[in-house]
Amino acid sequence: MRQPTPHYYPLVLFCFIALFIGKSVLVYAEEAVSPSAPIILAKNQPTHTVVNKIRHSNSAKGTRVVIDLTRSVSYAVTRDPSSQTLLVKLEEAVLGKYLKLRPSYAMTGNLIDKIEVTQRGDKTVYISLLYKQLGSHKHLILEHPDRLVIDLFPPEAMPPPVAFSIQTIVIDPGHGGKDPGARSRGGLEEKDIALDISRRLKKLVESRLNKKVIMTRDEDVFITLKRRTEIANENKADLFVSVHINSSVSGKLRGIEVYLLGKASDKRALSVAARENAETHKDVVGFEEIILNDLEKDFTRKASLELAHFTNDALKRNLISKYPTKALGVKRAPFYVLNHTEMPAILAEISFISNRKEEKRLKNPQYRQRAAEALLKGIESYIHSLGVGA
Ligand SMILES: [Zn+2]
Repeated sequence: MRQPTPHYYPLVLFCFIALFIGKSVLVYAEEAVSPSAPIILAKNQPTHTVVNKIRHSNSAKGTRVVIDLTRSVSYAVTRDPSSQTLLVKLEEAVLGKYLKLRPSYAMTGNLIDKIEVTQRGDKTVYISLLYKQLGSHKHLILEHPDRLVIDLFPPEAMPPPVAFSIQTIVIDPGHGGKDPGARSRGGLEEKDIALDISRRLKKLVESRLNKKVIMTRDEDVFITLKRRTEIANENKADLFVSVHINSSVSGKLRGIEVYLLGKASDKRALSVAARENAETHKDVVGFEEIILNDLEKDFTRKASLELAHFTNDALKRNLISKYPTKALGVKRAPFYVLNHTEMPAILAEISFISNRKEEKRLKNPQYRQRAAEALLKGIESYIHSLGVGA
């Protein structure tokens, strides 16, 4: 293998760029590593395949790495057990803009520790998948869009990876203290209902699932959204469930919905996120782009989607079946707390405090217990779906 000619200037330049983008990289500070090889910025020739993005996802079966390309490519995958590396060589290929800036990715909770990308010369790209343990692997090129898919499977007798096992769940009752959240005409406040449902959920998770629960607040106190995400991240929680009560200027709106992070599904989803983010004074639209570009959130995003669907189904089956209302479904919106937590995270909006009938239900402890039980069922189904007795 030909060694790259040293190019100190691009390396120095890269370090400066890295310092500037360091903030986003350092979100993953624990495993964040400096790039181990200098990237040589190749001329982006249109005849070459551009390697735009590398995504990865986990399942109980293993880890899938998807390399997004602008067109098909000739490639070779070789395994080097001595360095525990699966090396992917792409011919007539150049790194896209995004990968040039981030030549190394640290990973958690799957078979791969790190992915490194290197441009060699002006037409060969190497992608190193540094694995912890590996049974077998498969690869294939897929089209529309063009991409190279590599599946990695654990050794047969390998115990399940840590991320598949759920140990700690953070429950986040919305608002509190000086921030009442939404308020009904009758004076019922979101912060009190959210706390009550959360407390009930905590008890259920502890007793029925035997998991550790951390509450971001367990009394009527004000906690910033930032602090809530810190509590979850510092405790390395495996799941984050935020509990809120919905509200609308129209007294007619009713129903239950479950959110995960993403570009707002519709106008109302955006307004819900704006209301829930109000305390940060952040422009909700402003950070949408950041969210959607973060490669390493791929895993948590997929897991959040699954958690959201299981929770939504559980709410329909266990709550809406007894207390009929609209199942507003799973939606996406740029919530601050969901963007800054590093684990699968959802936000449930349980009923509209602004709707007379639903306000009455929210006052009823039986309804709140039922809501907590439905949320528990969602978490439980998600955990079971991981398939490892997590
Ligand atoms: Zn709220």
